[in-house]
Amino acid sequence: MKDAKLSIKSHPTHQTTLQLRDSITVGGRDLLIIGGPCAVESLQQMETVASQLANAPIQALRGGVYKPRTSPYSFQGLGAAGLKILDQIRQRHQVPVVTEVMSISQIEEIAAHVDMLQVGSRNMQNFDLLKALGKIDKPVLLKRGLAATIEEFVMAAEYILSHGNSQVVLCERGIRSFDHYTRNVLDLGAVVALKQLTHLPVIVDPSHAAGKRELVAGLAKAAIAAGADGLIIECHPIPEKSVSDARQALSLTDMAELAHSLSAIAEAMGRRVPTRTLEVPQLAVA
Ligand code: PEP
Ligand code: MN
Repeated sequence: MKDAKLSIKSHPTHQTTLQLRDSITVGGRDLLIIGGPCAVESLQQMETVASQLANAPIQALRGGVYKPRTSPYSFQGLGAAGLKILDQIRQRHQVPVVTEVMSISQIEEIAAHVDMLQVGSRNMQNFDLLKALGKIDKPVLLKRGLAATIEEFVMAAEYILSHGNSQVVLCERGIRSFDHYTRNVLDLGAVVALKQLTHLPVIVDPSHAAGKRELVAGLAKAAIAAGADGLIIECHPIPEKSVSDARQALSLTDMAELAHSLSAIAEAMGRRVPTRTLEVPQLAVA
């Protein structure tokens, strides 16, 4: 990978950290746990998610508003109305939010309302999109392509870095294989390799790898034990009613319980699952 000048480690101990908020550092000792539904469905749904997860060690919420669906007849996301919901939630609950960007034309609008922009698997090699994300000053969560090699994944990150944005987090989310029992095969070998090869934070999405909610907790724990810097996990107030990816969604109780249960493994790895620090605005004293 001699062309990966920026994402590849130049020094064996160099590790990039980035700030999601002043109080949230990604890639350091603290793990980043992101939870939330596959898709934003309503303000009420996101309110329930945010309030029921408020006391769990979850530092950011997710929710897709532009959804890359296999079928054009499936729910495509709430679009601009969904972004407004995410913005309301992040302000009311003082929690960072992550959502997927599918095209260059969406970047400006999305960046104005969220804390981190996700590039989905299907767009990992959308090079024009990657170049455009290289020109913004916001963290980018880059998911591994459905069938991308580790080298292709690193080079995709290189596109963003080489265009000026150094705030990139890699996300292993499973790759295609022959066995359809799981939706994808979670490649923990890639997590270990990416941590050795690159200086970028690496998080894991066990939900899209597993495709089944009963497999998510086990994969999440294994990911932290393999050295991942965090997790992004799908959960929903009524999992079986999720408009997309219902089969893999955890209940909010299971999501909170899983987040709490990660502490022991994190500590064994020299890491920490931080409690959420609310950045409550300081009120001026009259
Ligand atoms: C998602 O996060 O909802 C998603 C579509 O993920 P992926 O791009 O990994 O399939
Ligand atoms: Mn999903």
